[in-house]
Amino acid sequence: MARFTLPRDLYHGKGSLETLKTLKGKRAIIVVGGGSMKKFGFLDRVEQYLKEAGFEVRLFEGVEPDPSVETVMKGAEAMREFQPDWIVAIGGGSPIDAAKAMWAFYEYPDTTFEALCTPFNFPTLRTKAKFCAIPSTSGTATEVTAFSVITDYQKGVKYPLADFNITPDVAIVDPELAETMPKKLTANTGMDAMTHAIEAYVSTLNCDYTDPLALYAIKMINELLVASYNGDMEARDRMHNAQCLAGMAFSNALLGIVHSMAHKTGAAFSGGHIVHGAANAMYLPKVIKYNSKNPTAMKRYADIARFIGLKGDSDEALTDALIARIKELNKELNIASCIKDYEGGIIDEKEFLEKLPEVAKLAVGDACTGSNPREITPPVMEKLLKCCFYDTEVDF
Ligand code: FE
Repeated sequence: MARFTLPRDLYHGKGSLETLKTLKGKRAIIVVGGGSMKKFGFLDRVEQYLKEAGFEVRLFEGVEPDPSVETVMKGAEAMREFQPDWIVAIGGGSPIDAAKAMWAFYEYPDTTFEALCTPFNFPTLRTKAKFCAIPSTSGTATEVTAFSVITDYQKGVKYPLADFNITPDVAIVDPELAETMPKKLTANTGMDAMTHAIEAYVSTLNCDYTDPLALYAIKMINELLVASYNGDMEARDRMHNAQCLAGMAFSNALLGIVHSMAHKTGAAFSGGHIVHGAANAMYLPKVIKYNSKNPTAMKRYADIARFIGLKGDSDEALTDALIARIKELNKELNIASCIKDYEGGIIDEKEFLEKLPEVAKLAVGDACTGSNPREITPPVMEKLLKCCFYDTEVDF
């Protein structure tokens, strides 16, 4: 038996933000990040629409990128004080992820992150509030997923939360919000979405319900992302839908080792963060090559290649064409091809090699490894990460 869960309602298209006027309840708390939603006037509009719907409204502002345990606890405290029956989270992945965790601690003040961390083991939510998510970036798709990532900076650990209880009730996918994204964010988040769709399609948990979402998302992203990056707002608008389709697929089919590697390399080195989407973009071609040694996975990569119109006279040739296409996209989006070249070489080679065994071990242990189509051990992960550092061929 398998379960397939999506938000009860998804409103999309320009102006869909106004749907907030139709929510029913007494008190709504808005959870938001830094200044951009305020700066572009979206926060005011959200507040105004909710007031028009008769809500008493409170704001929880200032959720940081990679939200912390402290922020989650503060938000949950604010919720316990205000007793909202709707939580409305707006912004990039971070405020929405944070609000999901606040929701759990609002309804269950005595729970712990350790308890919530066990996948698909949440207590029943919605005894106090429902949840509406409004994304402003086109990548994480947290507005439709069962996931949230919270960082404990003191312990230096990330808590990946996964449960269909935190799949939002309402998602509002209004492309006007995505039009505010800067160029680089458009590229990185877009390749994150591409990775979601490809990993979901080859995941060991893929199914008839996730396949069409994943395939069509890949096709749209392949056709639209570069134009969106270069400022074509029609393409930008449709990318907002494409990333959401990818989210619907991976929320239910889960991911693979591209994400395991991105999670564990992201903050591992002193030279700077390797941004999530860029990490995925660099690792994806290498992982496709590695996974394609599994015949079932190779057949699926070939399916993708055929579906997006690539040519090849065998599954292997089609898989290679897909790899070449991903590399071409990275080039057009000005994303480095390997860690060594990332951001002009901020990751030090010596430090990388020193930390490699530990990072490889952590990556193998990541929650996303379980649904990857080919098994991997820490020593092989080391080899694979080395290929991602130097941009060398994967031949194992
Ligand atoms: Fe991702």
